[in-house]
Parts: sequence; C-alpha cells; structure tokens
Amino acid sequence: MKSIAVLGSTGSIGTQTLEIVKANDNLKVCSLAVMSNIDLLEKQTREFMPECVCVYDNAKAKEFKEKIKDLNVTVVTGMEGLIMCATLPQADIVLTAVVGMIGIRPTIAAINAGKDIALANKETLVCAGHIIIPLVKEKNVNLLPVDSEHSAIFQSMNGENKKQIKQILLTASGGPFRGKTFEELENVSVGQALAHPNWSMGRKITIDSATMVNKGLEVMEAKWLFDVDYDSITVVVHPESIVHSMVEYEDGAVIAQMGVPDMKLPIQYALLYPDRKNIDNERLDLFAVASLTFEEPDYNTFKGLKLAFEVGKMGGIMPTVYNAANEKAVAMFLEEKIRFNDIYRIIADCVEHFENIENPSVEVILEYESAVYQYIEERYCVNI
Ligand code: NDP
Ligand code: MG
Repeated sequence: MKSIAVLGSTGSIGTQTLEIVKANDNLKVCSLAVMSNIDLLEKQTREFMPECVCVYDNAKAKEFKEKIKDLNVTVVTGMEGLIMCATLPQADIVLTAVVGMIGIRPTIAAINAGKDIALANKETLVCAGHIIIPLVKEKNVNLLPVDSEHSAIFQSMNGENKKQIKQILLTASGGPFRGKTFEELENVSVGQALAHPNWSMGRKITIDSATMVNKGLEVMEAKWLFDVDYDSITVVVHPESIVHSMVEYEDGAVIAQMGVPDMKLPIQYALLYPDRKNIDNERLDLFAVASLTFEEPDYNTFKGLKLAFEVGKMGGIMPTVYNAANEKAVAMFLEEKIRFNDIYRIIADCVEHFENIENPSVEVILEYESAVYQYIEERYCVNI
C-alpha cells in the first residue's frame, strides 16, 4: 500500500489524482492540502479520510475545522501546515500540484524527509532546480514527472543510456492562438485565451499555454529533470497532442510516447512507477486520428517562449524573475487589468530590470518573487 500526500487536491491535477487513488486498491491518501476551497475539501476528506489536512488560508482553516469536527482529522494551516502535510511520517510519495512558487518549500521539506516526489508543480523546478536536483541525489529519492511531456520523455528513456541522448523533442499543442501574429493577439479576451483546444487544466496554466510561456517553463523543467543543455531541447508544435514528447538518440532513433491527451496516465505512471495498470478512459485510435502534424513554433508571436530559452541559459535568479513576472502578469490578465500581450511585455521588462545573481538560496528566490511582484505593482498597477 502506497500512501500519498496530495498538495493541491482541489485543483485540476489534484482531483484527477484522487480519481486514480480511488481506482487503485494499493494507493491511499494520508494528507490533502488546498488554498481555500473547503467545500470540495470536505467531500474529499470524508471520502478519503486522510490523517492530516492543510487549508493554507487561516480563516478558512478555522471554518473547515468546524465543518469536520465529527472526524478524527488534524487540520493545519499556512506554510507550516503545508510542510506538515508534505512530511507526514506515513507519506511514501508527495504529489505536488499546487500552482506557483508556493510549492518550493514543501517540496524541499519532503525530499529532506526522504519522500519520493511526483512533480506537477513545474514552477518549483524552474526556480529552484539547482537546489532540488542535487538534494534529490543526496537523499536518494525518486523525482517522478507528472507533466505529460516530461512523463513522455521519462518513459522514452526507460532502459536507455542517458549519455547517448542527442536531443529532447518537447511537443506543444500551440494553444488556442497557433497561426496568429503577435499583433492579432493584442486584444484577445480572457475567454478566448482560456479556450484551450486539447487540454482541460487550471486557469493559470491555460493562460500559460496560450502565451506558450508554459512551454518555456517546461523547457527549463526538462533541463533540470533530464540534465540536458538548452541547445539539446527542441520545441515541436504538434496540434493533435497525441505524441506527448520524444527523445532522439545518437543513432538517429526517435522514441516517443503517444496517447490521447489525458493527465490520468502521467499521474498514475508517477504514482505506480514502474508499473502500468488499466485506466478506464478513451484509447488512442490511430485510424480515427489519421494524421499527425508537426511544425516549428512561431517565435515572433510567442515571444515568451524565445525568452524562456534565453532566461534558462542565463540561469541564477533569472528563471525566478521570469516565472514570478509571469505569475503576476497572468493574474492581472485574468482580472482584466492588462491586455494579453502585456503578459510578455511585463516579463521582458522584469528580465531587463533585475540583475542576475548566481546560485540563489530558497530565501533569495522568495525575496525576488516579492520584489518582482512589487516592481510590477508599482509600475503597472498605480492607475488601476
Ligand atoms: P489549479 O489551479 O487547478 O489547482 C491548484 C491547486 O493548488 C488547488 O487545489 C488550490 O487550492 C491549491 N493551492 C493553491 N495555492 C495553495 C497554497 N498556498 N497552499 C495549498 N494549496 C494551494 O492548478 P492545476 O491543477 O492546473 O496545476 C497545478 C500545477 O500542476 C501547476 O504547477 C501546473 O503548472 C502543473 N500542471 C498542470 C497540468 C494540468 O493539466 N492542469 C499539466 C501539467 C502541469 P484551492 O482550490 O483551494 O484554490
Ligand atoms: Mg505539460
């Protein structure tokens, strides 16, 4: 029996994770953590009976305690609570599906406590990969990718000699604005940007897919997960989202993992690795798909993707600046305070404004997150 801590249980990845747990007799949940959605959390708590539950928002945590006072469940709050859920002695594996840089501290705490990590929260690796990867090696834990592309790459490396990798071919659907020019995207609405053609995901990552900043973050995630340099990562636009990514080897062999676009497969693969088990879902029907297409990304439209490669190569604090600026800008776009292309403009401005520093500690990373937020607020929010 494997016991799982689910951080972000009410989100898109979190709820699908609980469906996987429900379908597997050898999986159980020991802790759940959310920001504030206590109605759904109550249903989850009553169904999965975890030992510990974190509601990050303090007022909501108090409310939640009242709701479930008939149960024998510990309710905790804030960062301390999140870390408690991630380091529970019973936890074998921590699935990190919170959104944003809030995932860094609990992930590090979990690794330090010897837990395996199923990582969906890519922002953690983008900003703190230089801390997390050496720690994973030192503590000898498994870091299993949940992001579909990285799971595909991981699956395409099974039994291979990693030294013989020529390049990683990271696929991207291209999002709802594939084929558009930068100018055409100036006035797109929040609704248009949230209409992803293939994947149903949380709001932040859906906007990231529309700007292709998501792919930029995934490039950095791949660099850390698979220890490759940026010149060995190629983004390939593949609108059907059937090939979830590929690895090319020295001899020219290209190995891919294919399937219908459904996060349950990568989630289950991370939780049951190296086992595979039936998932009740739609199967890939190649006759129905008929053709698969591939094209180069349009770096003139998706300027944030190009910038991600530059920022990744700069390293140090710059991926944090890029990521924090994106988080803030996406939140402002979702509140209709800025236009779609302003997301890129704000990221580029921050990358230009902040000086790089090498090897930032977690404290410095979190200081920069606040500094970037503050810079954006002072510069872009004064008249709003
Ligand atoms: P959602 O916005 O759907 O869910 C986020 C979850 O995190 C919610 O449960 C939310 O709780 C919780 N949360 C937010 N802040 C905190 C906090 N401070 N403390 C505790 N819990 C918190 O996001 P997604 O599921 O879409 O994405 C999660 C992560 O996975 C992201 O990093 C994303 O990039 C990555 N990912 C997602 C994919 C997808 O298909 N959705 C695919 C690949 C990667 P509440 O509901 O209370 O707000
Ligand atoms: Mg992905």
